[in-house]
Amino acid sequence: MKENSHEQKVYQNVFLRTSTLKAMKTMKCSELGGACDMEFHANSFEEIAGMSKKHGMEMIHAGDAGHIKAMSKMSELMKTPQLMKEWFEEKRKEFDSL
Ligand SMILES: [Zn+2]
Repeated sequence: MKENSHEQKVYQNVFLRTSTLKAMKTMKCSELGGACDMEFHANSFEEIAGMSKKHGMEMIHAGDAGHIKAMSKMSELMKTPQLMKEWFEEKRKEFDSL
């Protein structure tokens, strides 16, 4: 009986997850210039870029080496506005095609 209810709970969770995420798109931190597998869910690219940026800042404040490295790579990119723009457009396309 106990196992059944656990199974039911898992099913419910999966159902909740898929139904809430249906309208939203998912991208990982690492796919957005970050360093980990944290997933972000949003309806627009601007929104997901904002979430990933906020998360990246938090990780850098926490002293996470992977994110600090990822951020310095992004900073290099930002020195060349054209490259930054291309990167951004490429990610936007990736998001739109999801
Ligand atoms: Zn991350």
